[in-house]
Amino acid sequence: MPDSRAHFEKALDATDVDIPVVANEAENSSDLQELKAEIVERAHELGFDLVRFARVDAMPETLAVLEERIDAGLLSGLTWFTKERARDASDPRNLMGSARTAVSLGISYLGSGEYTPSEPGEARGKVARYAWGLDYHEVFKGKLVALHEFVQERLGRAVEARTLVDTARIVDRAVAERAGMGWFGKNSNILNRERGSWILLGELLLDVELPTDERVRTNCGSCTRCMPACPTGAIIAPGVVNSDRCISYLTIELKGPIPRDLRPLIGDWVFGCDICQDVCPVNGKAVPGEHAEFAAEMGIGPSPVLTELLDMTEDEFRARYRYSPVKRAKWAGLRRNAAVALGNVGDQESVPALVRALHGDAALVRGHAAWALGRIGGEAALEALRERATIEDDEWVREEIGLALEMLAKTQNG
Ligand code: SF4
Ligand code: SF4
Repeated sequence: MPDSRAHFEKALDATDVDIPVVANEAENSSDLQELKAEIVERAHELGFDLVRFARVDAMPETLAVLEERIDAGLLSGLTWFTKERARDASDPRNLMGSARTAVSLGISYLGSGEYTPSEPGEARGKVARYAWGLDYHEVFKGKLVALHEFVQERLGRAVEARTLVDTARIVDRAVAERAGMGWFGKNSNILNRERGSWILLGELLLDVELPTDERVRTNCGSCTRCMPACPTGAIIAPGVVNSDRCISYLTIELKGPIPRDLRPLIGDWVFGCDICQDVCPVNGKAVPGEHAEFAAEMGIGPSPVLTELLDMTEDEFRARYRYSPVKRAKWAGLRRNAAVALGNVGDQESVPALVRALHGDAALVRGHAAWALGRIGGEAALEALRERATIEDDEWVREEIGLALEMLAKTQNG
């Protein structure tokens, strides 16, 4: 689940808590041990499932990994994530110079709910589990601020803090790993023994030097199940994901056209992808969190009807997904994804909706609708593509229509 610049900035700015430090009075070690236990208790009361503590200093191993991946072009789609940004992010003291402890917090988003299969006339897409309900950035923010307030009340002084949610996923994970929340799985997710990788991560940086936790010593062992399961071949080595091929990146972060060769591999995913998590044996035994905020009825749910997404107006999109992570894909992006998924589901009954999209406002959606019509085929699709070819003025869409017509000609001749 790679992340956008907008979210990076939002996490740094909107959740920042600037309270002047009054005095850093001597806080003795038994007090701090007690405070740590109280923070754990309060965090659980606030709804965090996992609470661990890490020291705050440079993470050279994280920086080395990030630089290597930037050099290898594995993060090239995330143009905002430069080496400079990687350097900043891999030492939490760059975010807050006085930080002494990072409280690493996790919430399990595993709950009940199942995917509804597509039926003729009702093709459905799939949404990654974390996005079924409310936007976790919002959920986390309030809880982190409340935990910070608790620490200040308990110490009786202003405590400098920084609340971070989704600051840069790799770094969130590095802090969680250092804090002993879990180990890096071969799919690059943090795996917790009890909760699996169905966890959302955030951090509270504090100017208090609290006792820290040990790293876990477990790893994936000989298991490699997630690697061949990835439909786009994005897991190129244990723990190394080429974000440019990952369906999460393609359906959320990428704002332009989805590369043609990857479209068929996306299947019916319209927002994110859970395949490498679904196949993981650790996740098979994970204890659910059952947090109401992430329940399917709070947001888009697991299996939206694709033609409804495609036909959605911008006002409907804004109103419906205001509190959902799905808004990150943007209106045109979500409809682009719906068109690709419809092309892959291949339901003839979705042709009228795709034809409407072919004549719609957004070139991005028209081009992907053309691709889907070329894949589904049939007389109505052929006629619509030919008609649009005569009036389309966007060069890229014209190219997509030409390729779709070629695809149809091959199917008819073959
Ligand atoms: Fe990305 Fe899905 Fe592959 Fe996992 S299985 S790496 S989420 S495309
Ligand atoms: Fe590790 Fe196996 Fe899970 Fe992949 S599927 S993350 S290799 S335990």
